[in-house]
This record gives sequence, C-alpha cells and structure tokens, in this order.
Amino acid sequence: MRRAAVLGFPVAHSLSPKLHGYWLSHHRIEGTYEAIATAPQDLADTLARLADAGYEGCNLTLPHKEAALALMDDLDGSASAAGAVNTVHFENGKMEGYNSDGFGFIESLKAQGLGWQDATVMIVGAGGAARAIIHALSTAGARDFIIVNRTLEKAEQLARDLNIYADVRDWSGLSSALEKTGLLVNCTNLGMAGQDPLVLDLQRLNPLAGVADIVYKPLETDLLKSARKRGHKVATGLPMLIHQGRLGFKLWFGVDPEVTADLQFIMEQAAQ
Ligand code: NAP
Repeated sequence: MRRAAVLGFPVAHSLSPKLHGYWLSHHRIEGTYEAIATAPQDLADTLARLADAGYEGCNLTLPHKEAALALMDDLDGSASAAGAVNTVHFENGKMEGYNSDGFGFIESLKAQGLGWQDATVMIVGAGGAARAIIHALSTAGARDFIIVNRTLEKAEQLARDLNIYADVRDWSGLSSALEKTGLLVNCTNLGMAGQDPLVLDLQRLNPLAGVADIVYKPLETDLLKSARKRGHKVATGLPMLIHQGRLGFKLWFGVDPEVTADLQFIMEQAAQ
C-alpha cells in the first residue's frame, strides 16, 4: 500500500486529498493520500517521520513551501527557480524537492488551447507562483516577458534570479504594456474571493492575445469574464491546480494520472 499526504497549517481546506483520492480510485491503485495538519515548527520532524514510516512523499502547502527548501537533500531545478517546494519525493533515503506549479500552468495552457511560444508574455505579479510560471515558460521556449508588479524591486529581483530579459514595470505601466502583449497572465491575489479585483481596461489588448488567471476561486474571475466578452481566448486557474498534482502522483504512485471531465467537474464543485 503506497502512501502520500499533504502537509499544511491549516490543511482542512486543501483540495489535494480530493484530487489524489479520485486518481487512486480511477486508476485502481491501492494507496492512500491524507491531509496532515503540521505546525511550522513541526515540519522537519513530520517529514522525517513520514519518510521513516515508508511514505512515498507529500505535497506541501502554506506555510511550508519556502521553509522546506532548506530541509531537502536534493532540489529539482523547478524548486530552486521558484524558491519553493510543493512536492516531496522520498527516494533511496533522500528527500527530493520539486515545484510543480510551472508544469501545472503550462499543461493548463495546453489543455485550454492557449499558446505562448511566439508571444510576448505579460505576467502581473512577482510572487512565488509568478516565479514558477516564468521559469517554466522560459524553459518551454518563451523569450519575451513583461513583468508588472506593485513592488517594482520584487519584479526586478525575480528577473535577475531567473536570468531572463524582461521589461519590468510597476503598476503605472500596466495598461500601456497591453498593446505588445500576446499572453496576459494574472499571478497576483487580485480577483480572488474576498480580495479586490484586478482592475484593468482591456481595450488596448491585441484582440488575438490570450488571457489566463491562476486564481481559481471564483472559477472565473472578473478579468476572465471581461476578456471572454471581448472575444479573447481565456484559461481559468483550476486546471493548473489539477495538472500540478500530476507530478507528485506520478512520483509516488507510478502513473501519470488522467485529467478526466469527471474530475474537472468534481474539483469545480469542491472549489466553490
Ligand atoms: P505571493 O507569493 O504572496 O505573491 C502575491 C503577488 O500578488 C505579489 O506579486 C503581490 O505584489 C501581489 N499582490 C497581492 N495583493 C496585491 C494588491 N492588493 N495589489 C497589487 N498586487 C497585489 O502569492 P503566490 O503564491 O504567488 O500566489 C498568488 C495567487 O496565485 C494566489 O491567489 C494563489 O491562490 C494563486 N495560485 C494558484 C495556483 C493554482 O494552481 N491555480 C497555484 C499557486 C498560486 P507585491 O509583490 O507588491 O506584494
């Protein structure tokens, strides 16, 4: 019986047990995936305890993703670039740290029919998710980035850390960057239930540009609603959450799990 878990604090809200539980049953794998509430000071001990008990690995959610970097024996390039670990694999007595957000985002773009290869990509935000996504997009061939963030220094630091060329702007440069943009991605908390919306007049956006939001609660943000109304292709945030889970499932249970229409429906219900 293979076992995996998600560690967070709090962790009750996590959608990961639903996601992995679906895949275990869909692929008829004898395994378990549980949520374990883990206070920050207990992270190292809990990881060691799970490894000793024969678990395959775990997901990490708030507040552990950054703290876990220092606890890993090996870091995949995805985790060091993102500066955060969200997937851990216990392998040959070692803890290997990965970050699957960038992979999840790219797979979600593919699944929703949005391209990035020849586009100027405008990323709004410069936090952990933006880091993971820019790293994944540049690894997957994107060359031309505009990064807009409320705190300019964080966007400048991100571009330096990832060693990419980017047109970096503060909030005042948001609207004027739209004309050059082929793919617009919201990587901030704006638009999330309980937060302010991302206020952005899309009039200057190239009609052929795609618009993606990684916020998944609500399932379709105001930004995506107005983009859809103007005829842009859009990508919602929940498929990223689903696809990012594939990496861990494959590492722990040996199968690249299927993203079925059923699963999407179940996750949409769970996310509301
Ligand atoms: P983070 O590291 O805390 O970064 C937050 C970003 O949002 C920063 O760029 C921050 O700007 C910006 N921001 C926050 N409040 C703002 C405001 N009032 N006005 C302007 N900018 C604001 O968070 P994260 O981990 O990157 O996550 C960002 C969002 O992505 C969250 O909503 C999260 O739920 C979502 N997410 C979704 C998935 C998925 O699978 N779909 C995965 C990961 C994250 P400053 O730098 O100026 O503070």
